[in-house]
Amino acid sequence: MGEEMRTLPCRSCKKPLVQRSRWRRKRYCGPWHRVKYTVSKIVELVMEAGAA
Ligand SMILES: [Zn+2]
Repeated sequence: MGEEMRTLPCRSCKKPLVQRSRWRRKRYCGPWHRVKYTVSKIVELVMEAGAA
């Protein structure tokens, strides 16, 4: 034993991602979901600024 199967959901699509590295957490299933998440965050901020 001693095998650790840790998972974290993708921040963009919530798909479970197996964490292979102890040091680096994988937060997105691919580079495009990272972009998608970043863009959606910016849009959110802009919308908030526009509403205020
Ligand atoms: Zn994803």
